[in-house]
Amino acid sequence: MLPAPERQIFNATYSGFEPSTSLWCIYLQITGNPKDHGLLHHSTFIFPTWMTSLRHYRDAAPMLSLAPGQGLPPYVVVNHSAIDSGLSCNGTHLVTLTGLDRLSNWDVLDKRAYGIKKRQWMQSLIHDFSERFAGIGERIVMREMATARTMSRYLNTPNGAVYGFAQTPVKTGRVRPDVATPIKGLWLSSAFAMPGGGITGAMLAGQRAWYRAAAVATS
Ligand SMILES: Cc1cc2nc3c(=O)[nH]c(=O)nc-3n(C[C@H](O)[C@H](O)[C@H](O)COP(=O)(O)OP(=O)(O)OC[C@H]3O[C@@H](n4cnc5c(N)ncnc54)[C@H](O)[C@@H]3O)c2cc1C
Repeated sequence: MLPAPERQIFNATYSGFEPSTSLWCIYLQITGNPKDHGLLHHSTFIFPTWMTSLRHYRDAAPMLSLAPGQGLPPYVVVNHSAIDSGLSCNGTHLVTLTGLDRLSNWDVLDKRAYGIKKRQWMQSLIHDFSERFAGIGERIVMREMATARTMSRYLNTPNGAVYGFAQTPVKTGRVRPDVATPIKGLWLSSAFAMPGGGITGAMLAGQRAWYRAAAVATS
């Protein structure tokens, strides 16, 4: 959104930084308490049998480029009612399933093919989830899926990144981009700035940007 000369200067600061991963997310509205179906905790990590090491996580990200039926990726199930989230209403509860995703899994498809493949994956992942938590499948009254394509469209981040720049060992901590930018008066208050990555990182960057901007304003 910057004018071309400023955009060039701005972008040059971040060359060499890769965007972080994207995610797929399935949102389920459930009647009755998910705890009654074994979802006792806020977060439950599901690891398929092919995954025998955390190193295999990276192999999960491109899996949704294929049609379902050739293996399932690891995913996390979140029972938002396990904490006082305020997200349950009228006896229905929110449960989400989330896993790694890549924009390249989806952006090659036209709108119709995208819709079909998304529905197939949603069905396959919900089937796996329902097998693991007996009886919960019959309790689902609403379902919706977001993919890396959704993240790219609504967050407007490169490749649908959800954690700002990737937290690789050489691009984290002090070498992470500062909240100050080469454009005077423009501050980064987001997961793309230091310390970055996720909700807490974005909040701390926001706080940092505020202090720095306030210091400049009063100097
Ligand atoms: C499914 C999912 C699960 C997650 N789980 C966790 C978790 O458990 N823990 C954790 O720490 N993090 C998690 N994250 C990551 C975390 O939510 C993000 O890293 C964090 O919210 C980023 O904050 P932000 O302020 O940088 O960006 P955002 O929260 O994305 O805010 C940027 C805003 O800018 C808007 N925008 C974009 N372009 C424009 C434009 N041109 N004009 C106007 N507005 C625009 C976007 O719509 C968006 O509202 C998760 C993310 C997802 C998608």
